[in-house]
Amino acid sequence: MPLERIADRVARAWGTVSHLKAVKDTKEFREAVEAVQPERVELSLRLGQSKALYEAFEGLRNGPAWDSLSEAQRRIVEGELRDFKLGGVGLEGAEKERFNEIQKELSQLSTKFSNHVLDATKAFKKTLTDRADVEGLPASALALAAQNARAAGHEGATPEDGPWTITLDFPSMYPVMTHAKSRELREEVYLANIRRASSGDLDNEPVIERILALRREKARLVGFASHAELSMASKMATLPKALELLEDLRAASYDAARADLDEVRAFARAQGEEAELRHWDVTYWAERLREDRYAISDEETRPYFALPAVLEGMFGLARRLFGVEVEAADGEAPVWNDDVRFFKISQGGAPKAYFYLDPYSRPAEKRGGAWMDEVCGQSRLFARDGEDLRLPVAHMVCNQTPPIGDKPSLMTFREVETLFHEFGHALQHMLTTQEEGLVAGIRGVEWDAVELPSQFMENWCYDRPTLFAFARHHETGEALPEEMFAKLVAAKNYRAGSMSLRQLHFACTDLELHHNFEPGQGESVFDRERRVAERTTVMAPHPEDRFLCSFSHIFAGGYSAGYYSYKWAEVLSADAFSAFEDAGLDDEEAVVATGRRFRDTVLALGGGRDPLSVFVDFRGREPSTEALLRHSGLLPASA
Ligand SMILES: [Zn+2]
Repeated sequence: MPLERIADRVARAWGTVSHLKAVKDTKEFREAVEAVQPERVELSLRLGQSKALYEAFEGLRNGPAWDSLSEAQRRIVEGELRDFKLGGVGLEGAEKERFNEIQKELSQLSTKFSNHVLDATKAFKKTLTDRADVEGLPASALALAAQNARAAGHEGATPEDGPWTITLDFPSMYPVMTHAKSRELREEVYLANIRRASSGDLDNEPVIERILALRREKARLVGFASHAELSMASKMATLPKALELLEDLRAASYDAARADLDEVRAFARAQGEEAELRHWDVTYWAERLREDRYAISDEETRPYFALPAVLEGMFGLARRLFGVEVEAADGEAPVWNDDVRFFKISQGGAPKAYFYLDPYSRPAEKRGGAWMDEVCGQSRLFARDGEDLRLPVAHMVCNQTPPIGDKPSLMTFREVETLFHEFGHALQHMLTTQEEGLVAGIRGVEWDAVELPSQFMENWCYDRPTLFAFARHHETGEALPEEMFAKLVAAKNYRAGSMSLRQLHFACTDLELHHNFEPGQGESVFDRERRVAERTTVMAPHPEDRFLCSFSHIFAGGYSAGYYSYKWAEVLSADAFSAFEDAGLDDEEAVVATGRRFRDTVLALGGGRDPLSVFVDFRGREPSTEALLRHSGLLPASA
């Protein structure tokens, strides 16, 4: 309880600060945040490395009260002890010193790695002056290229007449790979990209080797054979289970990916491309094929996705599945912008939770993307007099198209999916039944299990009755045309085998390097990746491929020995949705019963019960890859 009090005081104050920084940024505000940031970092280091806290938790674990603690309380104690151990708090003397040295060097190395990537990205610029060289690029890409050219000193550059400058930043490079008719341009940009940060002063190969060696040494100091095993110690997956899941998906994706490639080859040939397709041709021709078969523009579908109707449909789904009412409560809480809405959720006639929705893009003061965050979590400790609990409050923030003129916000289908996704996170935060604040809602949920409710909700956007309940033309009330629905579904699964295999290649390489690979044994990281690629690519990597040198996710971000979690979460969420399919999506009684079970397990138990048990509580068995493969069209028709 004393720890929850400290944590909550900080979280409430800092949560407000970081929220406002994200949605209402100003120069003054940013300076104020920077001024107190060091104190905040110091506090979190003190909490995370506190010997006193570690010993207090050990006392609880080994003391007489242990047997009387609830499951949730035990999870809190065990989780804290685990994190302290992984953070080296349990080490003494020379080992502790070495651990801290490694930590420090690793943090410098990851900064070095990303600086190299950044500098290498900046170092490449390709300026074109001939209109023929940029043929095929869409208007938005030409506008960006002209802007890049002006920034590079070509003052009068215009989207129509150039000059145009291409860089290796994704928004500049990707349209080239997808749309540029010039093969030479695509080849040059492709090669520059896969060689990024792999030579000269910016060479990341030695950085990678040092990172891998230090991670292994650090893992051994705290009792694990490899960094992958250390990483898995605080996750839902175990190493064998993650490997098994990746292999299942790989086996099911491989032939489909090969068929995708054959299909693209045949299409390119039919369109008059005589040359053998190389690495820089595949994305380009796959996009031509997609346009030919499934193209549907956002502009065609927007009129059918007006925000008020979408919200009504989404709240109707929550009522149907989880038995909760969502109603507008605008004016009951202060807001930071006139467009922000406030809602109340009730269950059985009593208030259960509240949330803010900040839906529209405001580039001048709001950062991009979409997210859910806590305002405060459910907790018995902070209940007001006469009440049992403090109720949870959430922020839902999106960046969708704002209303124009007197029309409501007309959303793209992707924006609809995003709204459902964030609502899934918010529901886990709000419908929790945990009363221990440290594991209520999304708190204490393992990192690789957190995307289950959010991706689960996205599945409903492809459920006919759910979608058709709100997809109506905002002026005429006419339902979304069947043909558009069919295209939305087809577009989702276009090249599913190839997309899946690509993610699997990254995930398998990540685990291979962090579990089996030892630097300095005569094989380079690139050789080892190439060995993985024999099973995870249908077109062998280009001989000069040094992609690992810019794989920031695992060498500079938080995804080391964790890239598998993208696929892990997809499997969980698809499998959870398939419980509804098994029960019968048109059997209303079965849907309601399954919905209540999802509410009372996945949404209710938060971090208070281990995630695999929660999943089994809901599904009656451990996760299976079958549903994800079936939804993506990767199971043979007979299965
Ligand atoms: Zn998410």
